Amino acid sequence: MIFKGNQVTQDLVLKPDVCIVGSGPGGSMAASRLSAQGAKVVVLEEGGYHQKDEFDMQEATAFPRLYQDRGNRATADLSIAVLQGRAVGGGTVVNWTTSYRTPDDVINRWRDEGSILTPALLKPHFDEVEQRLGIQKVDYDDTNANNRSLYDGCKKLGWQVDTTRRNVRGCLRTGYCGMGCPVDAKQSAALTYLPDAIAKGADLYADCRVTRIDWNGKRAQAVIGVVLDPASGQYTGRTIRVEPKVIVVSGGALNSPALLLRSGIRQGPVGEKTWLHPVVAVGAMYKSRIEGFYGAPQSVASHHFAHRDPGAGFFMEVAPTHPMITGIAMPGFGAPLRSRMALLPHLASCISLMIDGFHGDQGGTVSLRPDGGPRLDYPFNEVHYECFREGMKAMARAHLANGAESITTFHATPLVLTKESDLAQIDHAPLGPNLFAAFTAHQMGGCRMGSDPKTSVVNPQLRHHSLENLFVADGSVFPTSLGVNPMESIYGISSWAAQHIHAALS
Ligand SMILES: Cc1cc2nc3c(=O)[nH]c(=O)nc-3n(C[C@H](O)[C@H](O)[C@H](O)COP(=O)(O)OP(=O)(O)OC[C@H]3O[C@@H](n4cnc5c(N)ncnc54)[C@H](O)[C@@H]3O)c2cc1C
Repeated sequence: MIFKGNQVTQDLVLKPDVCIVGSGPGGSMAASRLSAQGAKVVVLEEGGYHQKDEFDMQEATAFPRLYQDRGNRATADLSIAVLQGRAVGGGTVVNWTTSYRTPDDVINRWRDEGSILTPALLKPHFDEVEQRLGIQKVDYDDTNANNRSLYDGCKKLGWQVDTTRRNVRGCLRTGYCGMGCPVDAKQSAALTYLPDAIAKGADLYADCRVTRIDWNGKRAQAVIGVVLDPASGQYTGRTIRVEPKVIVVSGGALNSPALLLRSGIRQGPVGEKTWLHPVVAVGAMYKSRIEGFYGAPQSVASHHFAHRDPGAGFFMEVAPTHPMITGIAMPGFGAPLRSRMALLPHLASCISLMIDGFHGDQGGTVSLRPDGGPRLDYPFNEVHYECFREGMKAMARAHLANGAESITTFHATPLVLTKESDLAQIDHAPLGPNLFAAFTAHQMGGCRMGSDPKTSVVNPQLRHHSLENLFVADGSVFPTSLGVNPMESIYGISSWAAQHIHAALS
């Protein structure tokens, strides 16, 4: 059963086999696999339970409802906007459907940390995920002009580029993935692995914020949640206390380490080495209409620069250009911003995602805000800046090659570039916190897996190094970033880990 906050009318004490905190790819998959093996599972999810009729395709409705911190999450210095889902289904309710397996070289690199994962071990899990979620490659003819502009530009330069694979069935390409799919085409966790779990007897409590985990010695004892009113988001006064045999923390990167910190579970580098695939963007202005707010939002990617040496790798994708997200991303205020926004239908947006975690970089650190939520510090250094500059130049080159009339950078004082010889200006434009727009939609790490309790939080089976009945199964366990969009990796690794979680029940 799924219970909403207003259906919890008294304090509850539950004693299932497993309690899972969070219902994104990590939590939903663990719930599905463990329920299928006969375990009684209870999932607690802070976000609400929303269905397609509620997805009105309005950013003003969707961001406060479906995103962490009402869509306003950011690093502590406000230099990176953090997009992260908050709903039954987690990030899969709002994400853009791009689906990749974990690259083999990344899985193999993690073995240096003591990971026991191999491409062969994960293959059957990815096979099943792709089948369950209807993951299929996009035809070039089904891409929108926004994505095609990156594809065609890369092709003209001889760079690697391809269409992506998407987890959709019967997609109408409305373009509103980021606001919740209005036609249930996107195969989110709320439509797939969570119903699978519920069909096998799992219960899910939406609108339940887990405030702490009680533990003693080597055992986690109880999960304590407060119930929120689905309409107002305010605490109703009701609590849910779950006393399971095994706890799985799947709150996602940032929130999972914050929960451990709130609970005083501080052994190992909790919150450290948080990876973001930090994003910089450019806008390319075309004479023709692009209308990047319609069509599959993300259907093309170029990994041509993923393995740079020296320098951190990056990959290029496309972001949709709905008015609010674009207005926030674009630099400037008042009349200059207004005149740029007036040209929105002609704008192609391109993003470059830095592959962090491979060049001795320390990544971000999660600590606690005064309200107990996650505070994220992610300092930039010259490795980032070099990568951001090269990313901006590559994106500008691809779009100029494709016939864009001008490229606007997202520096605080934007550069407008119209020809190749202008690109050198990017090298001289100041970079620093809040001197350019930076984003992340891919949070990873913070509860990294590994064999050494001093340098990792969970062991290679994703069990906490100190608490024998506590597991973490979400993107926070990744020792590095991935170099590809993370959803499918999280599903696959959680599916693999479920056998170890189940073994801890006996
Ligand atoms: C706009 C956007 C676009 C994206 N596009 C793509 C894409 O195209 N392809 C891709 O692969 N990835 C994409 N991503 C990223 C992807 O969705 C995430 O990497 C993935 O969902 C993370 O899975 P997770 O299980 O680690 O955590 P999440 O999906 O974040 O799920 C964690 C859940 O736990 C809940 N939670 C947290 N703390 C608590 C608590 N204390 N109590 C109760 N519940 C709690 C949260 O509310 C959340 O619902 C995108 C993300 C966004 C925001």
